[in-house]
Amino acid sequence: MENAEKIKLGISACLLGQSVRYNGGHQLDHFLKDTLGKFVDYVPVCPEVECGFGVPREAFRLIGKPDRPRLITINAKQDFTDLMETWARKRVEEIEREGLCGFIFKGGSPSSGMERVKVYDDKGVPAKIGVGIFARIFMEHFPLIPVEEDGRLHDPILRENFIERIFALRRMAKVSQGGNPLRAIVDFQTHNKLLIMSHSPKHLQEMGRLVANTKALAPKSLINRYQELLMEALKLKATPRKNTNVLMHMLGYFKKDLDPSEKQEVLEIVDEYRRELIPLIVPITLISHYVRKYDQPYLKEQTYLNPHPLELQLRNHV
Ligand code: SF4
Repeated sequence: MENAEKIKLGISACLLGQSVRYNGGHQLDHFLKDTLGKFVDYVPVCPEVECGFGVPREAFRLIGKPDRPRLITINAKQDFTDLMETWARKRVEEIEREGLCGFIFKGGSPSSGMERVKVYDDKGVPAKIGVGIFARIFMEHFPLIPVEEDGRLHDPILRENFIERIFALRRMAKVSQGGNPLRAIVDFQTHNKLLIMSHSPKHLQEMGRLVANTKALAPKSLINRYQELLMEALKLKATPRKNTNVLMHMLGYFKKDLDPSEKQEVLEIVDEYRRELIPLIVPITLISHYVRKYDQPYLKEQTYLNPHPLELQLRNHV
């Protein structure tokens, strides 16, 4: 895993501890700032402050139609939707130059919330069905960039999934940057095969067909379609059942190497993982040990064994 060049991630500025909230406060998230922050370069964005509102300021609400609500101040009832939308459209174009591999939004915000933001009807009754104005424009502009919210990232499964996707997208970005993108995409498919399989064998097949016939599409369209499928696949949960299939598949590469007691030990550990008695890191560590011991060339290159920095301990909890 190449850690030299950090991944760029967009983030709602208040999550880094910047005092930009309407009441002058912040929403510092220690995991995001201090732990994940060691591996990424953040690009902080506070839509309300960047759009010209001061701190402190009157709070906003989303009001009206759930799919296109208006951004309105709670007391003065001023409508700032057009101002925010115009700023957001310009800002996402600037952000394009940053080469982001993901964005972490502050949940619940009428500007930054990614989902389930309260939208009030004309009687003042809220329903958690909206999307913050900036978050919506960001996701429309960058449909393939992984996005998550601070609260959801406290769930170990969602956290592992999101971080795996941002690292995969960074690896994928290198495919189009190299001198021979068609060669690079075939290599990418080879090295990420087991990772994709752990999320969706169906997508793996479709992506395999795509790279087997690189002449069918122009290189740019091929890469775009491949990236679309990759992000779609990795978004699907890697369940214990799917991971067990991959682990058993890997075991097949050691048919001639492992002695009966080693094989038995791996089988027992994989079964304990399948029954959710131990976390994924345990069988992965054991298999990685045999990959090194027997110098298994194909498995050595698999990102599945090392999809994100070990220090984040993401597989200790899934
Ligand atoms: S939620 Fe978004 S708009 Fe609100 S303070 Fe945080 S970054 Fe700014």
